[in-house]
Amino acid sequence: MAAKRIDILGLPVDDVDMDTAVERIAGFIQSETMHQVVTADASMVVTASMDSEFLTVAKAAAMVTSDGAGILWASRKLGLGIQNKCSGVDLAERLVAESVKRGWRIFFFGAAPGVAALAATEMQKRHPGCNVIGTRDGFFDPSAAATVATEIAISKPDIVLVALGIPKQEKWIAAHGNLTGAKVCIGVGGTLDVFSGTVQRAPVWMQKRGLEWFYRLTSDPRQLRNRINKQKLLPKFVGMVLKASR
Ligand code: UDP
Repeated sequence: MAAKRIDILGLPVDDVDMDTAVERIAGFIQSETMHQVVTADASMVVTASMDSEFLTVAKAAAMVTSDGAGILWASRKLGLGIQNKCSGVDLAERLVAESVKRGWRIFFFGAAPGVAALAATEMQKRHPGCNVIGTRDGFFDPSAAATVATEIAISKPDIVLVALGIPKQEKWIAAHGNLTGAKVCIGVGGTLDVFSGTVQRAPVWMQKRGLEWFYRLTSDPRQLRNRINKQKLLPKFVGMVLKASR
């Protein structure tokens, strides 16, 4: 059954849990066309409200999961009834784990030079036999955006995890994802940094309380500027939600 698609301040979100998301992806892999999967966090709601090209891309996605606490909080405030979450980093690791038994061919695309390869090595340690069939960093000249996709296609991936940050990754997938030959392309943000150990995940208690962003802000100075820019979107998100809930 198709999951309920709920509009959250303009951004569509499918109320799917992890198991449902994985089975939908299994279905996409059996199909003939590329399916874009978006993992939506609070910053994305704000970005979608300011960037109509990005909003069009998100609306056309085959599946949009709720990445975390911000979306669930907004859903409660607005009475939208989103119950489930399925974050990009958790979904990515689950797909890597599934690849051991299902044989899915997964490509890691994005992050600084060396990070995707390190992420693949770390995943092989955590999920021996996983099927990460290629890696590539996420820094390239904009004129090479399509070429990068055709280079990825040489590895014949089923799934490409695209870690270029929001909204670049979603726009790249919409424009060039079909050239990879993969049936599923997923924007996963900082996931490869987390997999590689370049960035640590917050302790579980902080993840549960939606404080992962705070942990990363204080623990990784290299990401500071990017984080601060992103955190500027959070008050805006809270303002948008409170205004709409009145
Ligand atoms: N990145 C990249 N190419 C770029 C810009 C960023 O590969 O042109 C990578 C960056 O190194 C990092 C990821 O994209 O690994 C963005 O992570 P972040 O947590 O900021 O993602 P977001 O929260 O925006 O999805």
